[in-house]
Amino acid sequence: MSRKVFIAGNWKMNKTAAETAALCQALKEKFADVCPCKADVAVCPPFTSIATAIAELKGSNIKVGAQNIHWADNGAFTGEISGAMLKELGVEYVIIGHSERRQYFGETDETVNKRIQAALKYDLKPIVCIGETLEEREGDKTEAVLEKQIKGAFSGISADDFKKIVIAYEPVWAIGTGKTATPDMAEATHAFIRKVLAGLYGALAEETVIQYGGSMKPENSRELVAQPDIDGGLIGGAALKADSFHDLVKNAIG
Ligand code: PEP
Repeated sequence: MSRKVFIAGNWKMNKTAAETAALCQALKEKFADVCPCKADVAVCPPFTSIATAIAELKGSNIKVGAQNIHWADNGAFTGEISGAMLKELGVEYVIIGHSERRQYFGETDETVNKRIQAALKYDLKPIVCIGETLEEREGDKTEAVLEKQIKGAFSGISADDFKKIVIAYEPVWAIGTGKTATPDMAEATHAFIRKVLAGLYGALAEETVIQYGGSMKPENSRELVAQPDIDGGLIGGAALKADSFHDLVKNAIG
């Protein structure tokens, strides 16, 4: 079994188009020493910066993703963005079900499922986020919460489609807080997620890339990604500067 490391930067609501151009130029230079044979790398800017990022990163080994997708093809959904719109721009990945969307924008397992189906329809690779809150972890509910999120997200998704999916395990209490799950704690949860996936998709679970997200930085990326079931990262804060994102990736791949 060999899963390739995949590290993606989630820029959230940061970087105007002009700032995106500057960051992408710096990333393009920095990442020239990262062999695409060792890791897949992507950045996910806000919608308004995607076209700029794609133009600036052309010819580099950095791919571009979006942070959300609507499930309808088009229509009266003010403020939303469809799969066709993203595909036309040249987007390759799309983050779905980030905890901030679940917390602030009413995302549910059902809407996550609908967005996954839309992404697959437009040949975009979903990065599906799951994770427990601090209250759920302390209440010993982590496994039940993750199992429910997984089963809800992948309801009706065929094995063939499941092959295109990346999972990001992001304990909500570790996102943007500086608190990272210890490598042992994260590994135990990743192994549990893989076990649930095996129950749904059998041997395919061994091929699924499961990223860790939650205060990953250059100082801890090596130890986290060295764990057998941690295959990369979804990075927030540390992805907003070329130096820290580059060093995080370089350290992770050794
Ligand atoms: C995230 O929001 O996906 C994330 C992991 O953020 P941070 O790295 O800042 O904790």
